[in-house]
Amino acid sequence: MNSKSQSFKSAGIYIHIPFCVSKCHYCDFYSVPKAENLIAEFIDCIHSEIESASLRFAKECEVNTIYFGGGTPSILPAESLVEILNSVKSDFFISDSTEITLEANPESVTTDELKLLRQAGFNRISIGVQSFENKDLLFLRRVHDSDQALNAVKVAQNTGFANISIDLMFAIPEQSIDTAISNIEKAATLEVKHISLYGLTSEPGTPLGKSVEDGLVTLPDGDRYADFYLNICDKLRSLGYQKYEISNFAKPGYECGHNLNYWNYGTYFGFGPSGHSAIIDCNQNRLRVERFWNIRDLQTYIKCIRSEESTVETKEILNDKQIRLEKLQLQLRQQCGIAITEIMMDKTGSFREYLEILAGIGHVIITPDERIILTDEGAVVADELILNLSNLIITQS
Ligand code: SF4
Repeated sequence: MNSKSQSFKSAGIYIHIPFCVSKCHYCDFYSVPKAENLIAEFIDCIHSEIESASLRFAKECEVNTIYFGGGTPSILPAESLVEILNSVKSDFFISDSTEITLEANPESVTTDELKLLRQAGFNRISIGVQSFENKDLLFLRRVHDSDQALNAVKVAQNTGFANISIDLMFAIPEQSIDTAISNIEKAATLEVKHISLYGLTSEPGTPLGKSVEDGLVTLPDGDRYADFYLNICDKLRSLGYQKYEISNFAKPGYECGHNLNYWNYGTYFGFGPSGHSAIIDCNQNRLRVERFWNIRDLQTYIKCIRSEESTVETKEILNDKQIRLEKLQLQLRQQCGIAITEIMMDKTGSFREYLEILAGIGHVIITPDERIILTDEGAVVADELILNLSNLIITQS
């Protein structure tokens, strides 16, 4: 990590809690089964990591967002989560408006614990509902059922969380579009303020990935996926949720500040195994982007902290072309899109021609002030479209 003084003024903090009750078969996030002895060691180590980072970075920057993700943060006792939050509060400068999010799973939400967390300063909760339909939850190997999901949202509301987000999944095998729509209607009835919506994908190395490879499970094809997504977008808009990123929809004013900081190239620090950090600095209109991420293994992470070795697995400083590629990845997915000048060196040539083709088939809009914005139809094929644009950036001089 670069220990020279930094000029960024604000940052986000992410804390990775790497424990889960069991592994959902589609998941490739880093997590291990809950084990009491490891939890105690992990908490000790995360305090050390926070303190050591604060000595290098804390005093010149205000922390605008803190996000406890995982894994399943709500699996830890509330007292432990408060302890970690207090560590951040005492080592970094945070204000009354700092967004402090807890990821929680429905089976581990209780009134007493959420009350304590709310009092300690957590002001946003993101609940991993995935579906209100038991059949979907069984397929995903989630450990909660639909009643627990409904109850978790109500408990969060009753304990004073006004800013509630839920995660939902669509394109689950045998899920109907009606079920996906009904999930959204239930969320709206519950008055949640933010919905993250992800299509189920098969990730290599996961049990689901293996089942798909072996032909035991078939995921919906591209046309079916598009049907889901386009219907879902229409439904969410009709219920007052604005799409601000391909997979994220919010009532006005409830967009997730933590994610916006990632996507808009803000500085952030990630603590815990697999935590990712980025220090973004702008000097004389030139961006300097330094990224580094922690070892993805809890035991090694603990060992490194104990022996005062670095927990960083890899560090990179991006060159100009990599910055343009990354901006394309992060910003085109947002509803505000990206200025063409951010990613394109010259205003003509194959890049421009490809954009005109995309605009012609309705996958992007090119605004009069030269921004590229994905339409819903474009969002369905965003990965392919971004790959093609990236290849054109790579071949630009
Ligand atoms: S609860 Fe979340 S992090 Fe844990 S295994 Fe399931 S999807 Fe992955």
